[in-house]
Amino acid sequence: MAVLTPVDEVISTLLSQVVAMDETEVVSLRLARGRILAQSINATVDVPPHDNSAMDGYAFNAQDDSIVAGGRYAVSDRIAAGHVGKTLEPGTLARIFTGAPIPEGANAVVIQEDTRMSEGGIELTERPKFGANVRPRGQDIALGSQLLGRGHQLKAADVGLLASTGVNQVEVFRKLKIAIMSTGDELVEPPNALAPGQIYNSNHYTLAAMIEELGMEVVDLGLVPDSLSATVEALATGAETADCIISSGGVSVGEEDHVKAAVENLGRLDLWKVAIKPGKPLAFGFVRARSDADAIPFFGLPGNPVSSFVTFTVIAKPYLLKFQGNESAVGNSLYAMSQFDFKTGGRREYLRVRVSGGNELNAELYDGQGSGVMSSVSWANALAEIEADTQVFPGDKVKVHLLPN
Ligand code: AMP
Ligand code: MG
Repeated sequence: MAVLTPVDEVISTLLSQVVAMDETEVVSLRLARGRILAQSINATVDVPPHDNSAMDGYAFNAQDDSIVAGGRYAVSDRIAAGHVGKTLEPGTLARIFTGAPIPEGANAVVIQEDTRMSEGGIELTERPKFGANVRPRGQDIALGSQLLGRGHQLKAADVGLLASTGVNQVEVFRKLKIAIMSTGDELVEPPNALAPGQIYNSNHYTLAAMIEELGMEVVDLGLVPDSLSATVEALATGAETADCIISSGGVSVGEEDHVKAAVENLGRLDLWKVAIKPGKPLAFGFVRARSDADAIPFFGLPGNPVSSFVTFTVIAKPYLLKFQGNESAVGNSLYAMSQFDFKTGGRREYLRVRVSGGNELNAELYDGQGSGVMSSVSWANALAEIEADTQVFPGDKVKVHLLPN
């Protein structure tokens, strides 16, 4: 039996070969979510830009000892958010609302719940200290400080953070173009009717959605019949139009598996027997459209839908993230308590599980772990990673990788 390469070794070999992309483009902030910053961004303003009131109440000078609890004071100004008040007259209060700038001469706010309206003024039932209920200028962000670094993937809060400093466009890495091809004479595109012996091409949809989840662009190379010439042609088109090609199917050792020969025709290929279940056969190589063109990386994933999902998630995804320049991807693994019995064989297994619970997470196993059972992946919210030759019992801690929603 051929020696199986451990998953971690495959991943580290692949990662050592990636050259992160360096082409950038400027996009409007509104379209920037999910994109990877190509430059670090420093704040060009303080946020907030002025000391302002955190509450509705009355601004006063906390260094003025004549202002005391139980005292009654005149209101000399009224300052709403968006308006600048005048310099506070000594011994008076300024009516102030949340977000309004603290006027010159004031440095604290008494909240309106701690005051009483009385004839001839406002009575303080509490007398807070210097700085009370004041949000100082730069409390959130100081002018000149770094907001986000190069390689950071922008999420919703990040685009809001940038907007809070007046940014409306950012320089990001161009989206990788990932070409996908689905090999197999048996495949039919939904919603066409199935003839005997045919099945729907589901891998294309799963892979395309996962690639878009990573913030990359999909190039569709369509269905590729099981022939060497059709496979070569599709790969050449991919090499012409994309940054990377991912195929599914055709990487086993059957007579109808043409991916290996086709890739070797256009470049070079490593075919690994990876110690992973599901998904043992995995091809990786480089293809070029013409002899003078640049070679682009190629992943040949197994055809079984679950194998294709798992090998993409575990092996191709870290490669693509690094290729895209994404340095912010964090591990999403944690430990949960197994609710199941399971025994692995000679390969590390990625089981489809559902993780739930609060303090103590539990991992429930989908009943049906076959590599063709896509229902297991649809049901699951995590993959449990179980090392080779391991017996898992209920109550054992198992490592789980959360899947994107
Ligand atoms: P292969 O790796 O080409 O031998 O395919 C392994 C299994 O996966 C076979 O049962 C194929 O019919 C199935 N399969 C291959 N490609 C796809 C696809 N795109 N969508 C759904 N099933 C597929
Ligand atoms: Mg096939």
